[in-house]
Amino acid sequence: MMLLPRHLRGLSHRFAQILQAVLPGHCGMCGGKTLGVEPLCQQCTKALEKPHEPSCPRCAVPYPTCGNVSWECGMCRTSPPSFDTVITAFSYGPHVKTLLMELKERTRTWPARVLAEALVTQLERSHVNIKNFHALVPVPASTVSFSRRLLNPPAVISDKLSPIIKIPVVKHVLLHKGNVSKQSELSFKDRMNNIRGTFIVRNREKVQGKNVFLVDDVVTTTATVRECARELKKAGASQIVVLAGARA
Ligand SMILES: [Zn+2]
Ligand SMILES: [Zn+2]
Repeated sequence: MMLLPRHLRGLSHRFAQILQAVLPGHCGMCGGKTLGVEPLCQQCTKALEKPHEPSCPRCAVPYPTCGNVSWECGMCRTSPPSFDTVITAFSYGPHVKTLLMELKERTRTWPARVLAEALVTQLERSHVNIKNFHALVPVPASTVSFSRRLLNPPAVISDKLSPIIKIPVVKHVLLHKGNVSKQSELSFKDRMNNIRGTFIVRNREKVQGKNVFLVDDVVTTTATVRECARELKKAGASQIVVLAGARA
C-alpha cells in the first residue's frame, strides 16, 4: 500500500490518493515540484544517465567506440559468465549515483520504483522475452550490510519489479554465506577468487529448470553476478538474465 504524506493521512485512503495525484509533490532528488505521485521532477528524470551504447551484449561493459557494435568483450570471450546478458536501467553517472544513495544509504524505497520502471523500458527494448521467465532472484546482502541498512537494495528493486512484469520474487533461495573481504582494491581474478563460495542455493527446486532474472542494484566488475549466476546454474537454473539498476 502506498504510504501517504503526513498531511493527507486521516482522510479516507482512496480520497487521499486522488488528492495526492492532483496536488504537486516534491522531487526526491532536488526537492522541486513534481506532478502528482511522480517521485522525481521532469528535470531530474531527464538527467538520469541512460545505459551506455555501444556496450558488450553479454555483460554490458561500455565500449569507448561509436556505432552499432555486436561483439562480446574480451573478458566474456575468455571467461564466459553463466548469465546470458545484463540489462541495465541506467549507466552509473553522478545523477544515478545520487538516486542509488537515496536507496542504499538513506534507505528510501521510491528510487527502487524509478529503477524498476526504467528496467522494464530497457527489457522491452531488448531481445529478452519477459514471458519466458519464471522467477526474480535478488542478489543477497551480507549479514553486516543488511544489519547496517535494514534493507537489501536488490530485494527492494525486485519487489517493485514483480507486480509490473508479473513474475514472482523467489526468496530464501540464493543466500549469502558470510562476509567477503573488501573487493575494491583487487584485480578481477582476485575478486573472483575472493568471492568464490560466498553464495549458496537452498530450496533448489524453486529454480530448477526455470529461467531466472537475477537482480542487482549496481554491476561494476560483474564478479558478484557471475558468482551468483554460477551457483544458480549449478542448482539447475536454465537461462539467467541479470537485471541491474546501473552498470558502472
Ligand atoms: Zn528534481
Ligand atoms: Zn562482456
